[in-house]
Order: sequence, then structure tokens, then C-alpha cells
Amino acid sequence: MIHIKNYINGELIEPLNQEYLDNYNPATGKVYSYIPDSTEEDIEKAYQSAREAFPSWSKTTREERFRILNKIADLIEQNLKELAEAESTDNGKPVKLARKVDIPRASSNIRFFATAILHYASESHDMNGVAINYTLRKPIGVVGCVSPWNLPLYLFTWKIAPALAAGNTVVAKPSEITPMTAYLFSKLCIEAGLPKGVLNIVHGLGAKVGSAITKHKGIKAISFTGGTATGAEIAKVAAPMFKKLSLELGGKNPNIIFADCNFEEALRTTVMSSFANQGQICLCGSRIFVQRPIYEKFKTAFVEKTNKLKVGDPKDATTNLGALVSKEHLKKVVSYIRLAKEEGGTILTGGEQVHLEGELSEGNYLRPTIIEGLTFDCRTNQEEIFGPVVTIMPFETEEEVLLYANSTKYGLAATVWTQDVTRANRVASKLDSGIVWVNCWLVRDLRTPFGGVKSSGVGREGGFNALNFFTEPTNVCIKL
Ligand code: NDP
Repeated sequence: MIHIKNYINGELIEPLNQEYLDNYNPATGKVYSYIPDSTEEDIEKAYQSAREAFPSWSKTTREERFRILNKIADLIEQNLKELAEAESTDNGKPVKLARKVDIPRASSNIRFFATAILHYASESHDMNGVAINYTLRKPIGVVGCVSPWNLPLYLFTWKIAPALAAGNTVVAKPSEITPMTAYLFSKLCIEAGLPKGVLNIVHGLGAKVGSAITKHKGIKAISFTGGTATGAEIAKVAAPMFKKLSLELGGKNPNIIFADCNFEEALRTTVMSSFANQGQICLCGSRIFVQRPIYEKFKTAFVEKTNKLKVGDPKDATTNLGALVSKEHLKKVVSYIRLAKEEGGTILTGGEQVHLEGELSEGNYLRPTIIEGLTFDCRTNQEEIFGPVVTIMPFETEEEVLLYANSTKYGLAATVWTQDVTRANRVASKLDSGIVWVNCWLVRDLRTPFGGVKSSGVGREGGFNALNFFTEPTNVCIKL
């Protein structure tokens, strides 16, 4: 069985304590590899290597950073099949989803920031002939990147690419639940000739490795994607050290479907936005609000279409939903289905685990679940479940649905379905949401700021915002 290694100072090495954790395949419930159970000492080693690499990497020309990053993106594309299979084995998602979305988007992230750095410019302001100001933007130094398990390589590269492009060196930690693609990625970095120490990947538990990054005095900025509670913990530790923080956190996203929508399009996309990746995408819509005149028709068609989704072997090309990421996570999601029933909800479809045959018999499978009959402010409709579980409820007016949509502590993403462009703009402007998709879902332009409001996070990344985050501005004012 493979022993995953840390990537420190350009080499693949064992954790200093030589201890490992089990890595499970969620589709089979069996251990299939081992992950370093790294500690603060490994983080210190990674930090020292990043610190030594910084002076030279920060002076590397933009063209050279562009070249190396693009070479890494080339290698991701050349190894698409292997990476997609690894991501599926680690995470439980259908291989076809990893092949179509996760891995191609990982290489797009890298290409995007490799190119963006070539075009990145800072401002200059002329003060009516009195003085001129220009802003110097310098890389920060050693930065930390911590990512979650749901879109492992995609979110890992989303943080690392702008950090490296801007000239920083990085200490990164992928989720301990899904380490394999980050490990394969470290091999590709070596093959691409990334200088040693520029990127260091340390595997292990959040409570040990993640928190060691957060509290390290030399790590000046942290880009984190994960749960809101973890984000709050990181902010608490990092704030007294005045670290720069970008926190991309949880969501409880509303799907607002007006009666004048393109019915078929809204239906097709809502099935996808509810259950893609087993509902484990921070951008999945989990509260579906449908305007009264089409409520019964939409509900019936939505249940019918959901019933046709196949829960099965992630390797099978006909599978729509694979396994949930872990036994613990499955337990959490199932506990919310129980809660929904206690709160008076009716399960329209799903609600049960799926038991597959043979080597998949211990896998974490759950039928996609639709729940009706809950109030907008009950716990099921307020807390993030992060699985293939959605609620559906009718609404009459725009004001009413805005009240429902904005009622949670989250504000990550929303979708609005209507043919009325004026209404679409009006509703979008009134939603507490970092992203609003009108008549679509998950369409991403990497130039736009990405992230949420309220408890969904702070510090939008994306486009030049990410390069701004990973650089320190100094304003120089020259008297004329
Ligand atoms: P977690 O917050 O549990 O973990 C995220 C990462 O942080 C993991 O690598 C984890 O390590 C690490 N970590 C855990 N504790 C600490 C700590 N004290 N200090 C530093 N790092 C720590 O999130 P999940 O992995 O469960 O991911 C799911 C969550 O991520 C959902 O809430 C989802 O909404 C959110 N998310 C947000 C996105 C966004 O863009 N807004 C995108 C994708 C997901 P370990 O795995 O070892 O626990």
C-alpha cells in the first residue's frame, strides 16, 4: 500500500516521527493508503525551506514563474486520467465528474494565475501636479494554504497558484481525508522543475498540522477554505498576530425559482446543483424555493428526475452519485435527515442509505433526499448539511422569498430562475450573497471575486483580488 509522503524542500520525505494515518476509500470503506501524521516539527521544517527559497523565488521574473506554472498545468493535463481516478478513490465522487470538472479546473486555476501575473499592474495617482503616488506590490513571504476535502485538487490549486504566481513561497496542507491528489501534484511539481522549497506540502490532521500553520509566527498570510467553525478558530489564533486572512467558508445556498422561469432548464440545473458531488460542493443549492403557481408541478418533476439518479460505484460511467466522503460525514448527514423529520418535514424521496454489493458493501452511499414541509427558520433550513439533502418550499412574493433566502447566517451563493431581467437584477442586488447565478449554476469566470458574505467568509479571492491578497502594497508618494 502506498505511503504518501510530505513534499519539503523539493523532496518527498517521511514525516519526522515516521507515523502514519489510515486513508480510506469511501466507496469501499477500506483503507487503501497511508498518510503522514505530521506534527509541528514537520511544519517548522517546511517553513524553514520556504523561508530559504523566498529571496530567490520572489526575484524570479514573472515570465519564469509563468513558464514553470504552465509546465505544471501541462503535466496535470497529461496525467488527467490518473489524477481523476485518484481523486475519485480518495473522495468517493464519480470518476467522470473528476475528469470533467475537478482536474481540468485545477489546471485552469494554474494557467489563469500564471497568465494573470504577466498582466498584473499596480495603480498610480497624480495629485494635480503636487505629487504622484504609485503603489508597489511586493510578495508577502511565506504564506499558508489550507484546503478541504470536497474538491481536493481544485481548491488546493485555487490557493497555491496565485500565491506562487505573486512570488510567495508556500506551506500547504490538503485535507487529511483526501490527500492523494496533492501528493501526485507534488510529484508533478518536481517534474516541472519548481525550485526546491518554493512549495511545501505537509500532510496530516487539521488540529496538528493546520493549527501549526495558523500559529506559526513566520507565516504571514493564510488562505483557508473549509468549515465556518474552523475558519473562526483560525481567525481567533491569527488575528493577534495581524496575519492577512482569506477565509472561504460554509454556505446554505438558496435556489429561487420564479413561476416565469424556463421550467425545463431550471429543473435540469436544480437537480445538478442539489446533488452534484453528492451535494458536497460549498456552492450547491440546499434550500429550494419555488413560486406557488408552479410549485406542485416543479416538485413532482424534481422528485421524478431525482429518482432516476443512480447511486453507485464511482468508477461506473453511468453513476450519478458516488459515496459520501467518510463514515463520520455520512453519520452527520443522516442525523440531519432525522432532525428534519423531528422538525415536521416529509421526505419526498430518499432519506435512506444505499447498500451496494460486493467490495462496495461498506461504502458510504446515501440516496438523494428531498424534504418538504419545514419552516424557513428551522435548524434543517439554517445549518449547513453538506450532503445530498435539500429542502423545498413554496413562496408567493419576492419580499417573502428574500426573507427566507437571507435568513441564515451564511451568504455564499444563490441561484435565481426567472425570464424577467429586471426582477433578476433587483433580486440579485437584495440577496446577502457573494455570488448570484441567474438562470445558471457553477459557471465560473476566474477573473471575478469569489467568496461569501456573513459567516461564509472574508477576503474575496479570484482574479486580481487573489494577487492583491498575496501581495503587500506600499504607497510611494513623490513630490513633483
Ligand atoms: P474543515 O474546516 O473541517 O477542514 C478544512 C481544512 O482545515 C482541512 O484541511 C482541515 O484538516 C483543516 N483544519 C481543521 N482544523 C484546523 C485548525 N484548527 N487549524 C487549521 N486547519 C484546520 O472543512 P471540511 O474539510 O470538512 O470541508 C467542508 C467545508 O468546507 C464545508 O463547510 C464547505 O462549505 C466548506 N467549503 C467552502 C468553500 C468556499 O469556497 N466557501 C469551498 C469548499 C468547501 P483535516 O481535514 O485534517 O480536518
